[in-house]
Amino acid sequence: TADWQGKHVTVAGLGVSGIPAARALHERGALVTVVNDGDDERARAQAAELEALGITVRLGDGATLPPSTELVVTAPGWQPDKPLFLAAAEAGVDIWGDVELAWRLRGTNGREAAPWLAVTGTNGKTTTVRMLASILEAAGLRTAAVGNIGVSLLDAVLGETEYDVLAVELSSYQLHWAPSLRAHSAAVLNLAPDHLDWHGSMEAYAADKGRVYEGNTVACVYNAADPATEELVREADVEEGCRAIGFTLGAPGPSQLGVVDGILVDRAFVKNRQKQAQELAEVSDVNPPAPHNIANALAAAALARAFGVEPAAVRDGLRNFRPDAHRIEHVADIDGVAYVDDSKATNTHATEASLAAYDSIVWIAGGLAKGATFDELVTGAAKRLRGVVLMGADRALIHEALTRHAPEVPVVDLDRTDTGAMSEAVEHAARLARPGDTVLLAPACASMDMFTNYIKRGEAFADAVRARAEESA
Ligand code: ADP
Repeated sequence: TADWQGKHVTVAGLGVSGIPAARALHERGALVTVVNDGDDERARAQAAELEALGITVRLGDGATLPPSTELVVTAPGWQPDKPLFLAAAEAGVDIWGDVELAWRLRGTNGREAAPWLAVTGTNGKTTTVRMLASILEAAGLRTAAVGNIGVSLLDAVLGETEYDVLAVELSSYQLHWAPSLRAHSAAVLNLAPDHLDWHGSMEAYAADKGRVYEGNTVACVYNAADPATEELVREADVEEGCRAIGFTLGAPGPSQLGVVDGILVDRAFVKNRQKQAQELAEVSDVNPPAPHNIANALAAAALARAFGVEPAAVRDGLRNFRPDAHRIEHVADIDGVAYVDDSKATNTHATEASLAAYDSIVWIAGGLAKGATFDELVTGAAKRLRGVVLMGADRALIHEALTRHAPEVPVVDLDRTDTGAMSEAVEHAARLARPGDTVLLAPACASMDMFTNYIKRGEAFADAVRARAEESA
């Protein structure tokens, strides 16, 4: 704590990461100023609470760097080209994100600092981190799934609970601002264009993701089907003895985990020298056993095995795992048709994975495209589409791609962006579907044109489906 005494720290942004950061630094003797763009009622209430503690808060001006600043601590979502950061860079002042702060403060509350098993990637992070925590728990370890999943890392490292190991989800934003983070082991699940407006380019996005491998001590876990992830391992500066471990949906090579005859097997961490491979679990232990999700399970297993977890705990942890809501969530079966909510599929890469998981699909899609194109997605799925129902602001982009690559697939274009459109969409989808089909909400778009967030969108879908189920019962 001595190094914080009297240090001038500027915290950028009130909010879920800014407020705990300001408090933690203030408690350690730093002189904290919080700067915030917004100046609304909520910000004022939050400011009043911090000011009562003796923290300075400046509302309505998040751009100007207070001249005495020795360190900036930022909320992860703030764009790196903000004037505040340019001024800090100019003045030679370090900028830390919430993850960097948590990393630096871990172990300063008199507790042993737990090692981190880190997960990043374009899609599947939350699922993988939760699977990992479930496996670690099954192994009897004290752990939690934390980070970019709504559980603050700072709270986890400074809270009352003691951990043996943390399962940490990290976003590309968080990694951008976390220069000294050194995980025990880390996985990059996949890399597809996303958030490029923030990072500036695909290269910059990939480089930020790749930071998760820097300084790893035991294993860098990569996706053998996604060479860009392996490339990041090659570029990373790791501790001596740290291994590159691949995961694949096919038969694993040496130093890989993979699948053989419906069994998840490990050829990377086999202790018994007589054996070539160690069986971990059955594919049917993975919930749901869709291909992309088996990849998530293998990545989680690889990190757990790197931490020394036994095969039986991998199996038990996967069996105990229940997916979060709105991620390929089975809502109901009506007249032989399955209704599945994958509202969390907010980009084309995620949607590609969920469309690949079913044979005959009535697809509900549309929303805010965030600059995406849909040709590849539609081409890959065309043969499996029974029909498509479109809604939302950018639905025309998807419609055009369907006209180009799947002209025979019937499309209902709802021309609506109100929340009520969802129940109409479900009605049309039900009419298009045949027994054995899956009606799949996988929008490939963000939700904010129609709904508060993907959760509300998924709930609207589930409500509409349940109403139909009741009618037909
Ligand atoms: P994240 O935390 O990275 O957003 P989630 O686990 O919440 O990831 O899953 C988001 C969506 O991405 C899911 O609804 C699913 O459609 C898709 N998805 C999950 N895992 C993968 C994967 N390994 N590859 C591609 N898409 C995936």
